[in-house]
Amino acid sequence: MKAICFPGRYCQGKGLLRQIGKWVAGCGKKPLVLWEPFLKDALGATVSASFQEQGIAFRDALFKGETTRAAAQALVATIKAEGCGVMVGMGGGKAIDTAKAAAALSGARCVIVPTIASNDAPTSACTVWYNDAGEYEGFDMWRFNPDLILVDTEVIARAPVRFLVAGMGDALATWPEANAAYGRRAVSTAGGTQTVTALAMARLCFDTILQHGVEAKEAVVRGAVTPAVEKVVEANILLSGVGWESGGLATAHAIANSLPAIHETHGLMHGEKVAFGLMTQLCIEQDWPVDEVYRVVDFLNAVGLPTTFAAMKMQDVSKERLLEFARSVSGEGSFVHNHAFPVTPENIVDAMVAADSLGQRRMKRGCP
Ligand SMILES: [Zn+2]
Repeated sequence: MKAICFPGRYCQGKGLLRQIGKWVAGCGKKPLVLWEPFLKDALGATVSASFQEQGIAFRDALFKGETTRAAAQALVATIKAEGCGVMVGMGGGKAIDTAKAAAALSGARCVIVPTIASNDAPTSACTVWYNDAGEYEGFDMWRFNPDLILVDTEVIARAPVRFLVAGMGDALATWPEANAAYGRRAVSTAGGTQTVTALAMARLCFDTILQHGVEAKEAVVRGAVTPAVEKVVEANILLSGVGWESGGLATAHAIANSLPAIHETHGLMHGEKVAFGLMTQLCIEQDWPVDEVYRVVDFLNAVGLPTTFAAMKMQDVSKERLLEFARSVSGEGSFVHNHAFPVTPENIVDAMVAADSLGQRRMKRGCP
């Protein structure tokens, strides 16, 4: 069986937040908005005015910073007590994941308003759980994806550029991973093997990032919203989101998701870890033309995503620790086994070492 899943509707544009009332009104009554205090300060007036225009009284809850089961249950209690019909999750990946869980557990409709484009959480049906200390506690796949994704590119462009660039790292790996998983017909989290639609979206994601990523970064550094920014935001959020969920993952995410075991990398964002995971995957792949590999590495270097151990703060990690890490990456059920060929811990260490060398050499060439 093949399977693909989508969000119900995706809307993106400059200044779209000013229309949030109209869009949320179409989803249900009495919205409950989850946001962090700093976002409430920055965007609260715009959101309130838009809801007021539609004659909607909304409730809100402050996000405390971690996607815990307790935080989701507290929202479910509010939704039930207040009779809210729509859960609106606003902010980054963790607030979004919490809102998705609360909607799924309560039966409310779900609207997601990402304020950064650093990862592909917004469109997926997935919640990654943490405890109060921020330690990983597993994940849930809900029965449905969010009903509506509302992306205001003006808000995204105002956030620090590092978020958009990290999102490009996460997005760029989508096609190499989906393509690897397809080679083995690995079942994706959508629940089936890959549709040609998912593969085409993943490939479009890859091409869009490579073509427009540098221009988009330069524009956002200056706070500008250009066609390149619009395309990259769509790739980071929509194409990457559907692409990973319905295309499948491989070595790039297996590495990124296991990197918390190497404490030196703690300050890095998910998409930055995926970028080095992608470097590693390119050095494990057996059939990629070298020109294509160089194109990806040069792009990562051009936008400032990590391609070396030094950039990953891993230059002092011994070979023994790398091997121990590689063993944890390649356990049973790991995404590294989605490749068409066997991947061993030794392969992973060699690929990481080769990736570091490749990143350094291409950087020295000054490419581009
Ligand atoms: Zn990711």
